[in-house]
Amino acid sequence: MTRKLASIVTIASCEPIPDSDRLSVVKMAGKGWNVVTQRDEFQPGDLAVFFEIDSYLPADDPRYEFLKNRCLKKFVSKSGEMLKEGIRITTCKLRGVISQGLLMPISGNFPELCDVTDGQDVTELLKVEHYDEIVEALRPEIGGGSIAAEVMGKFPSAFIPKTDEERIQNLGDYFETMKGRVFEVTEKNDGSSVTIFLSKTVDEENPFGVCSRNLRLKPEGAKGVPEQWQIVKKYDLAAKLEQINAMFESEFALQGELVGPGINDNRDKYADLEWHVFKIWDIANQRYLNPNEAENLALQMGIPYVPVINRAIKAFDELTSMETILAFAEGKTARGHEREGVVFKSVDDKPFVSFKVISNRYLLKQKD
Ligand code: ATP
Ligand code: MN
Repeated sequence: MTRKLASIVTIASCEPIPDSDRLSVVKMAGKGWNVVTQRDEFQPGDLAVFFEIDSYLPADDPRYEFLKNRCLKKFVSKSGEMLKEGIRITTCKLRGVISQGLLMPISGNFPELCDVTDGQDVTELLKVEHYDEIVEALRPEIGGGSIAAEVMGKFPSAFIPKTDEERIQNLGDYFETMKGRVFEVTEKNDGSSVTIFLSKTVDEENPFGVCSRNLRLKPEGAKGVPEQWQIVKKYDLAAKLEQINAMFESEFALQGELVGPGINDNRDKYADLEWHVFKIWDIANQRYLNPNEAENLALQMGIPYVPVINRAIKAFDELTSMETILAFAEGKTARGHEREGVVFKSVDDKPFVSFKVISNRYLLKQKD
């Protein structure tokens, strides 16, 4: 799944901001985002283009010129060479109101979008990239502590789901449809995704694999053993996966967050590399273990699990609006730093669902 960063939306409401005679706060049909816009830019019912936060827009497109002052983000190599520039869309506060993403009218701006419908993904059409993926791709050139891993192949997504989580702002219907459902809540660790599997179904010849978010990685690169493989040794994961596979007579993938020095700014300030499991996937039966079972299994095997905030909460009976669930996500990590947010995973017997709620306080504090 690549993220739908730019899409066509229908304007649902436009409310004037009390402290301003120029600005309004706009909501979109079926979406939980608030965007601050010019007062008369939109009317309910209008179609518009919406760029979600983390969008990275072409810097040379005159339509985004007005954002250059505030949002131009350049990548420069260690030797000073310009690698890439673009407009980064983030969270900001205007007149005390949180604004997330960029809304632009279609007419007059986007002749290439004359024929669109609500919900349509226009990410590729408008050449919108994902800021975090650009950072990841350029990391070897811009520096950063991590040892660049070398690629062995693609993430085996035919057998194991990737670790992406949808954000609550795109799941507005959950406040109705998920009432009564029971969820685990864990801290969202702010590191890097690592999936580790042992499966002959995935790879007959070479059944033990280590993957980042989108790629399978070689055990060693030109610069040494990448962090994703260092944790295999640290936690003895090959042997433990063999044990787990035998115990359940199946094949498993453990998915967790790599945190520590050199990883994604290490905002939670770990002294050493750690890996915290957050999901366990049964490959043969194509299902996630119940999160409470996954926690127990990880701990039983001596592998850390992400910090648990609640093991069984009727999330949508207790947190009944977008505002309350967003407020709930704000807080400190178990280690005492501003947390990125929380992840909800269902623990009842109904079909598994999970999603993330990112803290707006964290987004506003984030400088880079
Ligand atoms: P994007 O910017 O596309 O929204 P991202 O790179 O920030 O994505 P997310 O999709 O935001 O990643 O969130 C999902 C990721 O969160 C997973 O890939 C995983 O690596 C990470 N993660 C950290 N803690 C947890 C947790 N407790 N449960 C599930 N995932 C977690
Ligand atoms: Mn992100």
